[in-house]
Amino acid sequence: GDFTESIDPTPLVNDSLVLVSHQYSKQDIDVTRDFQGTARVRIDPGEFQQVVINLLINAVQAMGNKGTLSISTFDEARSGESGFGLTVADTGPGIPEEHLNSVFDPFLTTKSAEGTGLGLSISQTIIQKAGGLISVRNRPEGGAEFTVWLPGEAA
Ligand code: ADP
Ligand code: MG
Repeated sequence: GDFTESIDPTPLVNDSLVLVSHQYSKQDIDVTRDFQGTARVRIDPGEFQQVVINLLINAVQAMGNKGTLSISTFDEARSGESGFGLTVADTGPGIPEEHLNSVFDPFLTTKSAEGTGLGLSISQTIIQKAGGLISVRNRPEGGAEFTVWLPGEAA
């Protein structure tokens, strides 16, 4: 929808994390969180939560039964515009070099049965519609790291 009201994203990040950790409670996944972002953003709360859940589920699926999921938020200005950042990182195998530029394409999936390849494509559409950016890199220490940035004003 057309959101003119700003929202605090942190409770939505936390709710998504709680939801996903309940879903995967039988797996040996450690969660590290570092919530420092305070900026309020203009985005549909349900759509924002959908993006966060997509990233968390992808991270857990990449790690299999064991690993560390790190989620952090921060305030960050980009091109002179203040905003809110969210990073979801895992200790899985990372993204193969040849897929780094196509993970956001619709229907790109490496999962045999349950993969639709739509999660990241939809997530990118949601974030771009809100004037933000979503990006990915492989961390030097291993694992994939997705970053979402949304324009927003500190409270
Ligand atoms: P799906 O999860 O249905 O496959 P997505 O759009 O969510 O579709 O992700 C597309 C592809 O990007 C995945 O199939 C996988 O190959 C890769 N991918 C996404 N997240 C990760 C991650 N955290 N670690 C490794 N690969 C990932
Ligand atoms: Mg997915």
